[in-house]
Amino acid sequence: MSLRPTLDFLLYHWLGAESLSQRERFADHSRETFDAVFDTCERIAREKYAPFNRTVDTQEPHFDGEKVILPQATHDAQKAYAASGMLSAAQDYEVGGMQLPYTVEAAANAFFAMASVSIGSGLLTTGNANLLMVHGTDMQKEVFAKNEFSGRFSGTMCLSEPQAGSSLSDVTTRAVPDGDGFEADPLGPRYRLTGNKMWISAGEHELTDNIIHLVLAKVPGPDGKLIAGTRGISLFIVPKKMVDTKGELTGVRNDVALAGLNHKLGWRGTTNTLLNFGEGKYPVGGQAGAVGYLVGKPHEGLRCMFHMMNEARIGVGTAATMLGMAGYYASLDYAKSRPQGRPVGVGGKDASQPQIRIIEHADVKRMLLAQKAYCEGALALELYCARLVDEHHTADAQAADDARLLLEVLTPIAKSWPSEWCLEANSLAIQVHGGYGYTRDFPVEQYWRDNRLNMIHEGTHGIQAMDLLGRKVLMEGGRGLQLLAARINATIEKAIQQPELAVHANALGKALQHVGSATKAAWAKGEPGEALANAVPYMQAFGHTVLAWIWLDVALASLSLPQLAGNSGAAHTGRMGAARYFYHYELPKIDAWLKVVETRDLTCADLPEEAF
Ligand SMILES: Cc1cc2nc3c(=O)[nH]c(=O)nc-3n(C[C@H](O)[C@H](O)[C@H](O)COP(=O)(O)OP(=O)(O)OC[C@H]3O[C@@H](n4cnc5c(N)ncnc54)[C@H](O)[C@@H]3O)c2cc1C
Repeated sequence: MSLRPTLDFLLYHWLGAESLSQRERFADHSRETFDAVFDTCERIAREKYAPFNRTVDTQEPHFDGEKVILPQATHDAQKAYAASGMLSAAQDYEVGGMQLPYTVEAAANAFFAMASVSIGSGLLTTGNANLLMVHGTDMQKEVFAKNEFSGRFSGTMCLSEPQAGSSLSDVTTRAVPDGDGFEADPLGPRYRLTGNKMWISAGEHELTDNIIHLVLAKVPGPDGKLIAGTRGISLFIVPKKMVDTKGELTGVRNDVALAGLNHKLGWRGTTNTLLNFGEGKYPVGGQAGAVGYLVGKPHEGLRCMFHMMNEARIGVGTAATMLGMAGYYASLDYAKSRPQGRPVGVGGKDASQPQIRIIEHADVKRMLLAQKAYCEGALALELYCARLVDEHHTADAQAADDARLLLEVLTPIAKSWPSEWCLEANSLAIQVHGGYGYTRDFPVEQYWRDNRLNMIHEGTHGIQAMDLLGRKVLMEGGRGLQLLAARINATIEKAIQQPELAVHANALGKALQHVGSATKAAWAKGEPGEALANAVPYMQAFGHTVLAWIWLDVALASLSLPQLAGNSGAAHTGRMGAARYFYHYELPKIDAWLKVVETRDLTCADLPEEAF
């Protein structure tokens, strides 16, 4: 199975990605240049990533007392990724970028996520450097971001602490001005940081010359106390090794020490670390305290960090999707070759007949079609959101603003829906394999383990759900929800004209109304405790409605283009089948999810602790 025809259909035939080259920023691009990027990424993923997916799972990173050791394959994969130019794919030509649309960058990264999600931590480096390009000074861009884009340095995001994960307002890492004249350092106002950061991905390794940590820390107020809440949080660049204004290593190690590696369920190709900042293991200038350079203004750290969140969350959603897709393809292959059982006829089974392949059993087909509907639907959603990022950056003012607001509403879904349902797809992929799926002789158990992370990081499932129901659907007077409803209604109006889709269109109209009325009912008393008690079921219903819309729109595109290449009869039949599956088996679930939302059911919330 190849991802490419599915990607081509969604990108070019459904989303019209080619038309982005009419925008001034992308004027040098065309379908040819986009395809060349995909060809390169597909090849690197095939040669440098996929063959080593199991290697990085079994050869977990380990610390030899001095260095973190990773398999050679990880070094090779990262070098190849950096050499492809993908680290700065969307950046301006002047900084060595390719000025590609984000839609194309996100699609190209899908190949790597499917081949081996954890070998590369390129998305972290890109996210880190992109943030600096927006909020950093010219010197910070030159010294840190540009060296990250070239692959010489890599980047991390240090938000979480042992006691502060979902609740970042409780971070206690402290940053104090580093002596007189601290503001005059050419690399940015210089502080000394002390504290512990937990779960830091790619926090220690020897893959690059240096590691650039972006660290959230609090600058104490005049009374010496940390300011409560997120207001007090600032953002700092903390390099693992000190650099001069030319980006050269000075030979001095910064006071950032590995306290330990976390041993994870999956995603083992990327190190995950507990880092101690400023404990004095590597004193700088004879003094304990990690040297950090302020990014942006003091107390605006979280705002700077969240600048990157939409893209980071689309990245997580895409990773979840591609792990689901990898499992789908593996289980499809298996189902086509595994003989087991015989068909049931009216007279029972005929044991004298040869066994049939399991793909011929209706229940196995159900599991395969569910995976297809989840994963191809999720891929379409991620590409749609990536396209909104491009609209936000390059469309005219009104369209750009609409894209911004739509992204606000859709981002929790883009992150969470694939994290839940493409994980379910991985579980079904194991089920299709039967007992073999539960062994390490087949790849599907690893896909499930790798994918299990995605409901946890970048905002847990519960936190995303509360963000959706507690903030996103209410913001700007509910305009984001109205915009989304208008887009859904536009699809319904077109689909209702198509005999094959009219029933689905009506079902989607009802689902949309139900989501709207449940949103109002949840907030009828204006009590967050009651409204948000069932935020996750709400997000599940919201997500399924969004995916039903996406499938209807994709089905419309498929119907309108039967004659085009890449839309072969079987591919078209598959898309229509997946859309039908979604409407018959999945969308009806929303009524159960919304019931507890609209009745503000407090069964869970009210159960006393001792009753558990
Ligand atoms: C492999 C891995 C890689 C990671 N990489 C990074 C990284 O590079 N940088 C980084 O900064 N962090 C990283 N993280 C951290 C990750 O973002 C956190 O684990 C996550 O934010 C959850 O925080 P926590 O683990 O402290 O769990 P908690 O916040 O303690 O949550 C535990 C449970 O309680 C629920 N919960 C918490 N608060 C509430 C609430 N107010 N209402 C309802 N439910 C609530 C959560 O939804 C969750 O189910 C990584 C984590 C892992 C596992």
